[in-house]
Amino acid sequence: MRSPYTLDNPPPDEPPSEVLVPSLWRVQARWWKRHTPALDQQSAKHPVCRHCGQSWPCHSWACWDGQLGQAVHQSQAPEPDAGETRVNPAPPTRAVPLGAALTAGLAPT
Ligand SMILES: [Zn+2]
Repeated sequence: MRSPYTLDNPPPDEPPSEVLVPSLWRVQARWWKRHTPALDQQSAKHPVCRHCGQSWPCHSWACWDGQLGQAVHQSQAPEPDAGETRVNPAPPTRAVPLGAALTAGLAPT
């Protein structure tokens, strides 16, 4: 899940108040920032990560970004209680369509 953060709007060092595990956030945000292009790379056509040197967005950044996204979204949109999930009853099915049944009934024997 993508986080709402971008290079222009990086994640804050201090976790947003709704984040469930603030200590984890600080680690994730730190690594997120490490795996970003250096300033002179950010406007480049093919920026590379300043930390691992891969073309950016690098794999590590994508992982941390996903975790930040999850941390943010978890608190915003709690999973619906599985117990409340409603299952619509399946519509009744007829083995033979009504028209076909009538035709069969009217057919001369
Ligand atoms: Zn990297």
